[in-house]
Amino acid sequence: MNKEELQQRLAAAEEYSRALAAELEETNKGLMAITLELEKMRQLERHLAYHDSLTSLPNRELFYDRLNNAVARAKRNGHKVAVLFLDLDDFKQINDSFGHDIGDQLLKSVAQRLQDSIRECDAVARLGGDEFTILLDQIPRMQDAASVAKKIQNTVSSPFILDGNELNIAISIGISLYPNDGQDAEILIKHADAAMYRVKSEDTNCCRFYDEARKAGAANGSDLENELRIAIENGELELHYQPQVDLRTKQIIGVEALVRWQHPDHGFLPPSEFISLAEETGLIVPLGEWVLNTGCEQNKAWQMSGLPPIRLAINLSARQFRVLRLQETVNQVLQKTGLNPSLLVLELTESSAMQNVEVTIMTLNNLRDMGVRIAMDDFGTGYASLNYLKRFPIDILKIDRSFVNGLHSNQDDWAIISAIVAMTHSLKLKVLAEGVEKEEQLTYLRSLKCDEFQGFYFSRPLPVDACTELLQSQAAT
Ligand code: C2E
Ligand code: MG
Ligand code: MG
Repeated sequence: MNKEELQQRLAAAEEYSRALAAELEETNKGLMAITLELEKMRQLERHLAYHDSLTSLPNRELFYDRLNNAVARAKRNGHKVAVLFLDLDDFKQINDSFGHDIGDQLLKSVAQRLQDSIRECDAVARLGGDEFTILLDQIPRMQDAASVAKKIQNTVSSPFILDGNELNIAISIGISLYPNDGQDAEILIKHADAAMYRVKSEDTNCCRFYDEARKAGAANGSDLENELRIAIENGELELHYQPQVDLRTKQIIGVEALVRWQHPDHGFLPPSEFISLAEETGLIVPLGEWVLNTGCEQNKAWQMSGLPPIRLAINLSARQFRVLRLQETVNQVLQKTGLNPSLLVLELTESSAMQNVEVTIMTLNNLRDMGVRIAMDDFGTGYASLNYLKRFPIDILKIDRSFVNGLHSNQDDWAIISAIVAMTHSLKLKVLAEGVEKEEQLTYLRSLKCDEFQGFYFSRPLPVDACTELLQSQAAT
């Protein structure tokens, strides 16, 4: 190769490497753009995971995190932290009268006003539905939390103008304080919620401290409240199980767990004596967890002893759909006990389902995704419209015993049950009749093609040993 040729090749090689470098630069730019785009997407994903999509406020997870951090700091510095639990009054009515769009707009506007009422170092979150929480960091005195609550109530009470409608709304606020009322986020939020619940039941106050609310409870003759607290810890509660029977095969296909309290002085107390107290005070949360855990353990134990698998139904209160992380609890209990989720049925009454419809539907959907089944209890006694019934993801509808009661004597009850069964079947749900006491009622229910029943006619709720015997005798036949 002569010199000229060599130079030509060198020039060509240089040209080629310049082109390569340029191409590389382009690729790099492209890569940078993709990296930036990816980073933006990751940020968005992080934001969505920790923020509420409607109001863009932090969600429950982020709030717990911030609150736990604030508590950790307060532990070191000896500060106080306050948690405000806020719930709009009669928000459902606004949704029902003005529609969901206006309801959503109202929630956004409330969120904005809340945000404007607090300091930089505080935090506000939406837990779901019309429930918000506020963290007040480093407050010098307890009264400062009350002042913020008052200020929020004033701000929220001035009218909202939305799409030409003037809306007036009030807000109930419960307050808990670190260190007095709890040592971590979970307890502080639970106690602020309990105080808020007390505000709702009183009508006269619009904000309460947890401690004050507890004393008010005690002053109302509620020694029972403290006793119930102790009863849950001391194992004074007991579950009885009432069989649920397939109307065609007459086989027990499930049991409903019903709680009783073996009170040291008052003897055996039925749930009507203490469930509403437990709901008012927030004690329903630990009580409900105990019931869920005990029931699932028992059902698994029956299975392990060689009995054929049956469903276990657990009653839930409306309150358990609120602060409590219901899905997580259910998940944990299922994991711990090893019970197949399809053998767990969660019962909620029509009226409790209607208390916070959107949150309830979301929670039920999540539970359903886990494989758990849902029953609507006492159907016919609340006021769920058929429209809602379509939206609630339920598997079993339980006709209230007041209709079954009059079945053989009252033409109207017959017509109502007949309509409920037809509707339930067209929605592809199973229908169970509650409170069957007589053979005639059963005959009618059979002719109406009802699927399942429970009631004193077949068996009263039984203590665990008696129920085990009944299940064993069925298995032996
Ligand atoms: P429910 O879920 O509708 O339970 C059925 C109730 O009807 C039970 O009353 C049961 O004993 C009664 N019953 C069953 N068959 C018949 C019958 O043939 N005739 C008559 N007259 N009554 C019958 P119980 O055990 O007193 O429970 C009352 C309510 O207390 C339950 O109604 C449920 O809403 C609530 N409850 C019970 N246990 C729990 C629980 O663990 N958690 C919650 N949140 N609520 C519970
Ligand atoms: Mg029930
Ligand atoms: Mg019922």
